[in-house]
Amino acid sequence: MKGGFPIIVVLRCIRRLIYANSGTKSNTMKAAVLEQYNEFRITEKPLPAMAANEVMVRVHYASICGSDQHLFKGDFHPRTKLPFTPGHEFAGVVEKTGDEVTGYKSGDKVAVDPIIWCGACDACKAGHFPACEKLRLIGIDQDGGFAQYICVPSSMLYKVPPGVSHQHAALVEVYGIGFHACKRAAVKQGDRIAIYGGGKVGQCVMQAARTKSKGQMFVVDVVEGRLEMIRQSYPEVRVINALREDPVQVIRNETEGKGVDVAFEVVGHAVDIPGRANPVRACVQSIRGGGTVCVLGLGDEAVPVVFKELIWKEARIVASRVSHGEFAEAIAQLEQGHLKPDALISALMPVDDIQKAFDLLDTQPDNYLKILLDLK
Ligand SMILES: [Zn+2]
Ligand SMILES: [Zn+2]
Repeated sequence: MKGGFPIIVVLRCIRRLIYANSGTKSNTMKAAVLEQYNEFRITEKPLPAMAANEVMVRVHYASICGSDQHLFKGDFHPRTKLPFTPGHEFAGVVEKTGDEVTGYKSGDKVAVDPIIWCGACDACKAGHFPACEKLRLIGIDQDGGFAQYICVPSSMLYKVPPGVSHQHAALVEVYGIGFHACKRAAVKQGDRIAIYGGGKVGQCVMQAARTKSKGQMFVVDVVEGRLEMIRQSYPEVRVINALREDPVQVIRNETEGKGVDVAFEVVGHAVDIPGRANPVRACVQSIRGGGTVCVLGLGDEAVPVVFKELIWKEARIVASRVSHGEFAEAIAQLEQGHLKPDALISALMPVDDIQKAFDLLDTQPDNYLKILLDLK
């Protein structure tokens, strides 16, 4: 036995060293995996492989999107193949870079644009990348940012300045959706704006539009808690609960009968309210002659629109899908303090509580808008 003891001690020391090292540089990472619909499992996965043009990002915070809630329930099937790690709104720091990468180094704070377009289809050739026929998203079409590490081409990164917190950086993607919609609708200073839908994306459109126009603004929803959030963060915005007031009438009355310059539809799956037009038609009825309707809500139902109402106004309807390059604008506006990201964040939760986070978003839309998952 003599002499054996030190060997065991040495072996234990070596094991301890290996495990201690594995805390930061192991070959595995924690990830939230959707193994079947409606059920996340926190698991250890191998670190993703990094290509020469890629950067490994250590995710700090990831934000839960309405699309994630649909994906969670299986609404994106068969586009999402289980088991699967969602997450397309996330930010973190560069862990390491591939051999071909220039301009980024370990420790850089970054936000990740999750959109992958093909560059070869007619839409891409015309420079209309959000309409790419083969558009794919990190976190929807391939594993995403509800994991501690992810590898992405460096071309998908945007640097985040020190003045923007890690938590706020996780909201850059969804703000980008808002800024892109404003660009599609050509919002300009002084425009009067109506937004049908005051949820996650609707409030991002509202905040983005507020950086462009200080004109009258209306936000319509049926969830009182969301309207209350807006009353708190943007008291000058006129909120309308469509269950209690007719939004088209309110907008008409409060704009001297003129209507708004731009109306956004950000509802998607609308509830039927007796006596009220559906949100797209209500947008058409809310704008002035020559105004613009911008549709973003991802509803699956056919929506009746009386085109005569549009023709009389010689108005236009445009659609807005994702974003294209508006990350830079969102980051700059955050840095300059022109957005109110804390007004969107209802809770911060460790990724281990992801199942609870999804349940809260589903069952308590009055109390929870954005939940950020902490992956640090
Ligand atoms: Zn999203
Ligand atoms: Zn394409």
